[in-house]
Amino acid sequence: MPRRARRRAGGTARRPGPRSSPRTEIGADGRDYQVRVVAGSGAVKTYRCPGCDHEIRPGVAHVVVWPSDGGDAGVEDRRHWHTPCWQNRATRSPTRRWS
Ligand SMILES: [Zn+2]
Repeated sequence: MPRRARRRAGGTARRPGPRSSPRTEIGADGRDYQVRVVAGSGAVKTYRCPGCDHEIRPGVAHVVVWPSDGGDAGVEDRRHWHTPCWQNRATRSPTRRWS
């Protein structure tokens, strides 16, 4: 999918910034992933956790994960996980493919 410059309605675009640097972890598929912790105060939207297929509610601390080798496209493909779901990823079967 081509990336197009797009204006977001009402506000500052949130980008992964230098304020918290991601760490690298090995995913359940053996690839490297960047993992960034989102504090409860920073969670302002509802996300779908690919580990358990349940919602992550606003205000719930969790992690954002994306493939290390994907470059910008990898960041676009980031997923929000419950922290325990990500930690237990090796023992779960994913409900959704990374594509
Ligand atoms: Zn979950």
